[in-house]
Amino acid sequence: MKPTVFLDRDGTLNREVGFVRSVDQLEVLPGAAAAVRRLHDAGYRLVVVTNQSGIARGLYRQQDLAAIHCRLHDQLGGLIEAWLHCPHHPDGGHGYGGECTCRKPGAGLLHQARELLGVDWPGGALIGDSARDLLMARGLPLRTVLVHSGKPADGERQQLQREGFPPDHEAADLPAAVDWLLRGPGPHA
Ligand SMILES: [Mg+2]
Ligand SMILES: [Zn+2]
Repeated sequence: MKPTVFLDRDGTLNREVGFVRSVDQLEVLPGAAAAVRRLHDAGYRLVVVTNQSGIARGLYRQQDLAAIHCRLHDQLGGLIEAWLHCPHHPDGGHGYGGECTCRKPGAGLLHQARELLGVDWPGGALIGDSARDLLMARGLPLRTVLVHSGKPADGERQQLQREGFPPDHEAADLPAAVDWLLRGPGPHA
C-alpha cells in the first residue's frame, strides 16, 4: 500500500494569516506546489488535515471553506486526495461548539482518513508548523517534520520538548521538508 503524507494547511501550504476567511486571502507559499508534486511523484498519497475553528467562531461557513479548499486544490495541481478539517471549537457555537475528537492535537482527522480513504501509517509522515500538528501523530508510526514557514518555531519546538515528543526533523519550509523525506527510506521501503 502506498504511504501517506499528512499535511497541515495554514503555515505549511499557504501563508499563515490568522484565519483565511475567503479565497482572496489565500497565498500559496513559495515552492509549495512543486513540493506537493514531488511527494506525489515519489509515490505518496497526500491528505490535508486542518483545524478550522473559524467555522465554530462564526468567521466563515462550511461553504466558504469548501470554496477555499477548491481553490487551493487547484493551485496545488489537484494532487491532494482529501481535505479533512475540524470545524469545532470548545468555546464556539454556530452548530460546532463543544469538545470534539477531531481538533488537533487530537488524532481524529487521521482516523477519519483511515476510515474514509483506507490509508495506513507505515512509511508515512506528518508535516506541520505547529506543535499541535505533530502531536496528533503521537503513538503512530509516522515521521514528523516541524516546518518554520508559519508559527514562530521556537515556541512550537519548546512545546514539543515539554510534551516529550520532539520532531524527527525540522525544516525551513515544505520544500526543505520534502528534501529530507525523499532522502529517507522512501515510500516503498
Ligand atoms: Mg499550521
Ligand atoms: Zn472537531
